[in-house]
Amino acid sequence: MSGGRERETGGPIRESPPPDRYGLVRALMVREQLRARGIADERVLAAMAVVPRERFVAAGWEDRAHDDAALPIAAGQTISQPYVVARMTEALRVGVGAAVLEVGTGSGYQAAVLAELGAHVVSVERHPELARAARARLGSLGYAVEVVVGDGSRGWPPRAPYRGIVVTAAAPDVPDALLAQLEDGGRLVIPVGSRGQQELRLLERRGKRLIETTLEPVVFVPLVGRHGFER
Ligand code: SAH
Repeated sequence: MSGGRERETGGPIRESPPPDRYGLVRALMVREQLRARGIADERVLAAMAVVPRERFVAAGWEDRAHDDAALPIAAGQTISQPYVVARMTEALRVGVGAAVLEVGTGSGYQAAVLAELGAHVVSVERHPELARAARARLGSLGYAVEVVVGDGSRGWPPRAPYRGIVVTAAAPDVPDALLAQLEDGGRLVIPVGSRGQQELRLLERRGKRLIETTLEPVVFVPLVGRHGFER
């Protein structure tokens, strides 16, 4: 195939898809930031090798989208560092068709990775303008994520229970409301700590029991809401 347009015999002239300028950058990101640091789940690595992260950053930041860092988005919020997204996603062990709740849509990138893994994702965001932008972005990329506006520290009862819940903002404690919306065998991944520093925790429900594991230190913007920080 040559050039940017192609013609099918008798058919309309249509644009061929734009070349994937960032495909190589993503492959490097996966190899050097994720695999090299111990992310081993091949499904997670494959998903992050295809979700176009450059589409989730602010205009003008595309060339830095795959940096080994969190980056600013609108409303004073951030898109998480690739490694942290991978770590949380891996810990969640998302199967195809699993109902997953994300708290803190932000750019929508984490939601896209979960959707790429075949999860049915509902994502709650407290800033309406971020929710609107993420919804449009996810839709244009073909990810059927349900983005809703609200206080995700209360979870999202209409779709509960969930197989997985991932909180991508820092909480002072694990909100009971989220534990109550976790199905048996389900997993919750959440950064817990102070405003400036948290540890990533994994909680797995086994009937009435919860098995809690501490993963690693992280830094997230605060979860602001009823079961989060005040502001
Ligand atoms: N997962 C995002 C990064 C999230 S940054 C991504 O992949 O880009 C954290 C987000 O949580 C911010 O957008 C912030 O507005 C949102 N947030 C904070 N408190 C919240 C709450 N109580 N309910 C829903 N969203 C919240």
